[in-house]
Amino acid sequence: MSRRAPGVILMDKGVVVKSPNFPDWNNLPLRDELETALRIPVVIENDANAAALGEQWRGAGRGINSMILLTLGTGVGGGIVLDNKIWQGADGMAGEIGHMTLIPDGRQCGCGNSGCLEMYASARGIVQSYREARGMLEVHQLSDMTSAQIYQAARNGEPIARQVMKDMGSMLGIGIANLINIFNPNMIVIGGGVKDAWDLFIGSTHEEIMKRAFQVPAERTEIVPSLLGDDAGMVGAAAGALQKIQSV
Ligand SMILES: [Zn+2]
Repeated sequence: MSRRAPGVILMDKGVVVKSPNFPDWNNLPLRDELETALRIPVVIENDANAAALGEQWRGAGRGINSMILLTLGTGVGGGIVLDNKIWQGADGMAGEIGHMTLIPDGRQCGCGNSGCLEMYASARGIVQSYREARGMLEVHQLSDMTSAQIYQAARNGEPIARQVMKDMGSMLGIGIANLINIFNPNMIVIGGGVKDAWDLFIGSTHEEIMKRAFQVPAERTEIVPSLLGDDAGMVGAAAGALQKIQSV
C-alpha cells in the first residue's frame, strides 16, 4: 500500500512532525500506529526518495549503484541513491533538489527561499516564464495556459515558447551540473510531467552541464528519462521494505 503523507518526518522514528495536508498530524507516530493497526512491520519513506529507489531498483537506473532522480512536475522533487541506498541526511530530509538556490533574488518559492530550481524547471515555473516573456499586459489572457500548451506552441515553432523551454533546460542544467560536481553519480534520471517536453529542453541542459561541471564526471553521467512514471514511488516503497527486512 502506498499513501502520501507530505510534511516533516523523522524517518528513523517513523514520526510525522508536521504535515500541511493533515493539520491534525502533530508529532504523530505514524509508523507505530500503522504497525499496530496492520500487525505487520511498516517502513515510512518520503515519496520522492521512494521514487528514486524505485527507478534504481527496477527502472531506468537498474544495475546502477549511484543515481539521482529529479521529478519535474507541478514542483520539482528529488531523491539521491548512493551505493544502492537512499541518502536520508541527518534528519531524513536530504534530496530536496528542487529547493537548490539558482538565483539569489529570484522568484519567491513556497518553501520560504527565493530563486529555487523548482520555480524555473517545474510545470508551474514554465507557465510563469512564458507569461513573463509574453509581457504583463497579456497575463489575463494567459491565466488558463497549461505547460502542455506551451510545449505544443514550441513544437509548432512559436519563438517565445521555444525560448522559454530552452531557458528552462538551462536552469535544469545548472542544477544538474551542481549535482554532478557534488555527487559524481553514474546517472541522472528525469521524471514527472515535464519529461514530455524532453526534446525541447534537453539540448540546453547538456550545454550547461558541459560548460559548468568537471569534464570527466560530466561526460560519464547519463541523463535519461524515467521508466516507471507514477509507479516509481510504489516500487521504491517495496524496495525500501525489502531492504529493511534483509537488514534485520
Ligand atoms: Zn524552494
